[in-house]
Amino acid sequence: MNEYDSNRILDIVKQIGYHKTEFLSEANCFLLNTCHIRDKAREKVYHEIGRVKKNFRSKAKPLVIVTGCVAQAENEEMLKKEPFIDLVIGPQAYHKINDKINEYLNKKKRFEETEFDAYAKFDYLNKIQNSLGKTSSFLTIQEGCDKFCNFCVVPFTRGPEYSRPFDEIFYEAKTLAESGVKEIILLGQNVNAYNFEKYKLSDLILEIEKLPQIRRIRYTTSHPKDMTKDLIDVYGVSKKLMPLVHLPVQSGSNKILASMNRKHTIEDYLEIYENLKEINPLIEFSSDFIIGYPGENDEDFKYTLELVKKIKFINSFSFIFSPRPGTVAANLNLVKKEISSKRLLIIQKELFENQIKKNKELENKKIDVLIENKLKRGDQFFGRSDLMTPVILDGEEKDVGKIVKVKIIRSNQNTLFGEKLKTSNLKVA
Ligand code: SAM
Ligand code: SF4
Repeated sequence: MNEYDSNRILDIVKQIGYHKTEFLSEANCFLLNTCHIRDKAREKVYHEIGRVKKNFRSKAKPLVIVTGCVAQAENEEMLKKEPFIDLVIGPQAYHKINDKINEYLNKKKRFEETEFDAYAKFDYLNKIQNSLGKTSSFLTIQEGCDKFCNFCVVPFTRGPEYSRPFDEIFYEAKTLAESGVKEIILLGQNVNAYNFEKYKLSDLILEIEKLPQIRRIRYTTSHPKDMTKDLIDVYGVSKKLMPLVHLPVQSGSNKILASMNRKHTIEDYLEIYENLKEINPLIEFSSDFIIGYPGENDEDFKYTLELVKKIKFINSFSFIFSPRPGTVAANLNLVKKEISSKRLLIIQKELFENQIKKNKELENKKIDVLIENKLKRGDQFFGRSDLMTPVILDGEEKDVGKIVKVKIIRSNQNTLFGEKLKTSNLKVA
């Protein structure tokens, strides 16, 4: 979502004359879009600002703006803590950034803007061309969260659930398709909670797939509670919905799930898994895990490991629990760091071995790859399999944006390497 937001912020500031530069030292404005999900992400913000400060020690100071969830969570605190920061703008207020920049330049007074106003934000964004122009593009359909998992800051930093109007989303998808986009990744903190009038995520998928230019549809991130029958059934009828389901489970222990306020059990999760596998056995799962959540004992961890062995997730995110200010879990007793670190290593070993095995199974097989771009270095191209695994291959410029058949030659944990199969040009009359 931050990648989508960053690109949209760029679209907005372009209107008042800013262009993106890769060279920090030549920037007039430094814009840092931030994540607050774990403490490490927050630490990075101050580290980055320190780096900018060093770079501008002997030069005129650039305008420094912090946007995103750290801005929302820390607001005025940030201005007090770091005098180098000029503006602090929350994730639901970034559509006002141009006015805020002008206000700052006129008054030279530092301030924060952290109002929640998702309606006004998307109203504004609808009027601005999304200039991504890539083969694969994100499209935000929903924001915020009402679920309040006890570990998570999202409901506080992104605010309540908001679903964008169906027609607006379809219009944005159509514009993206007409600008060359071939794959759309529907986004939301709780993307499958999408609910606008009578429409759900399943309706959006079926509508967007009518666009002939769009070849692949994905969505992220979903919550097990919102994996409703209509969404599961779409996997049986959709021609363009990709067979990778990213469904965060967090823990394999029902006791921990209850303590997290997750509102689903492991049995619910397994039922979704089995229903989807029944519809299409080629569907694979990926997930998010929180290791060392307060109260997690050896037995709870054993259940998580068992789940990983059973489902054989092909790609997952796993992190040690990070206490977030303002959340219920921040007040609970932490599991010892050595124990969490040991458990993280064990779970990651299992996840990574599985990833390596799944990729190895594809060697010498022919798979469909959507080619996204030429690599910056060398002559090779980058694409993704239907399961979203990165593929590096020899290709041609004209293949960018196309789905080609690729023979996989070798693989490692994260990437497949292959060669494009020549299509025959034989004709018969
Ligand atoms: N809405 C999705 C769901 O309910 O599963 C997840 C979205 S959340 C923005 C992304 C991931 O960050 C979560 O699935 C969780 O694994 C991780 N996360 C959130 N808070 C965390 C915390 N306090 N410590 C460690 N990981 C955390
Ligand atoms: Fe955070 Fe997802 Fe839980 Fe919402 S449902 S509070 S976004 S983890």
